[in-house]
Amino acid sequence: MKKIRIIVVGAGPVGVVAALACAQNDFAVTLLEAEAKVDDSPRAATTHPATLEMIDRLGLIEPFIAQGLVARYFHFWDRPTRTRLAEFDHDLLRNETKFPFVVQTEQHKLANMGLARLRGYAEADIRFNTRVISVRQDETAVSATAEGPNGLEEFRGDYLIGADGGRSTIRKALDIDFEGYTWPEQFLIFTVTDDFQQLLPCCYRNYFADPQEWVNLFKVAGDDGKGRWRACFPAQVDESDDHALSDETIHGRLQGAFPKTGSYNLVHRNLYKTHQRVAAKFRLGRVFLAGDAAHVNNPIGGLGLNCGIHDAIELVDTLHQVVTGRANDSPLDRYERRRRTMNIQFVQEATIANKRRLEESDPKVRRANLDELRARSEDPVRHKEFLMRSSLIESVRKAEFIA
Ligand SMILES: Cc1cc2nc3c(=O)[nH]c(=O)nc-3n(C[C@H](O)[C@H](O)[C@H](O)COP(=O)(O)OP(=O)(O)OC[C@H]3O[C@@H](n4cnc5c(N)ncnc54)[C@H](O)[C@@H]3O)c2cc1C
Repeated sequence: MKKIRIIVVGAGPVGVVAALACAQNDFAVTLLEAEAKVDDSPRAATTHPATLEMIDRLGLIEPFIAQGLVARYFHFWDRPTRTRLAEFDHDLLRNETKFPFVVQTEQHKLANMGLARLRGYAEADIRFNTRVISVRQDETAVSATAEGPNGLEEFRGDYLIGADGGRSTIRKALDIDFEGYTWPEQFLIFTVTDDFQQLLPCCYRNYFADPQEWVNLFKVAGDDGKGRWRACFPAQVDESDDHALSDETIHGRLQGAFPKTGSYNLVHRNLYKTHQRVAAKFRLGRVFLAGDAAHVNNPIGGLGLNCGIHDAIELVDTLHQVVTGRANDSPLDRYERRRRTMNIQFVQEATIANKRRLEESDPKVRRANLDELRARSEDPVRHKEFLMRSSLIESVRKAEFIA
């Protein structure tokens, strides 16, 4: 019998996870990627316990942990006084999950290990340098037209997953609104090889609140496994890109936040616009949106990609239920009800609150926020409640109740 074929557009981490889950569920899959290789620019790394459980289901957990760093704790700091306010310990989740920790593994590593696994499936057709430009569907099938190495080519399938990132061609082709807003300030990200644990008693994930200039500080393994630190700062609203990315400004920012003797060994710098947006629809007929194509948010808390992986797994499970006759078509709309709701209620809400907490400038509100964080970390029940939410275990459990 001819297999159901799913077209996945975009070989970012969400597209690759979706394509691999399709192959593992006995679908034929066509994966179309515009670029020549997986994008390896520094972006997501923080992978929460609920997502680790999904990576485990895909059979990738061992290499995923081996290529990253296990981060049991995260810290909140008051930057102006250089005081550590609160330490949160994922080990409190040990009775809730097989993975009571976060793993810091860069997103391109996940995409590459997923692709390597996908290549083992005979009915997986993987095309790089193939940019989808339009999509058409009727009651029985969907087709994507792409510009590839041999010119225009048409790919036909039974369903299509648009995992083609924040500027999604698929979302635009379907004329689906991307509702929300863009923050006025850009975000700066710098990577250095200097070891911040020699400078202050921090852990692998640290958030520094400051009404003047908050900072996030993380450790990742790097491609060589030797370890790198990433610092994320807000640029000034009216700051030019040239100013923000100049050596002098970058070293000034790093030294201002974390003074050290000698200069930092900077290996990467980037500046990017940040948005809070959710697609008005996640499904139109046989076409679905997943990952950044469906939702984008600021990176404080490390939730965007995690939520995209949850989309991919939920969607492929749903398609499998429908195709194997265990359900009629109605769960296909449930995908949107579950994933869109969870993105709005958890990811958008949490990332906006995370940013507000770090940048709060009213002294009274700021003090109350920071006291609340400390009190929460010192109360085992509230500490665990906070982790259940930040780890996305709560959102996964809540989604299961959405019919
Ligand atoms: C600095 C930074 C830090 C972040 N940190 C975290 C974090 O710690 N944790 C977290 O969960 N999230 C984080 N995020 C968010 C995370 O990077 C994104 O959510 C993630 O990249 C989304 O993956 P995706 O596969 O949906 O999209 P993308 O990674 O954008 O991949 C989309 C793919 O589609 C391809 N494509 C685009 N158009 C077409 C087309 N027409 N045809 C074919 N292919 C196409 C692109 O080339 C690309 O390969 C961070 C983001 C930034 C910028």
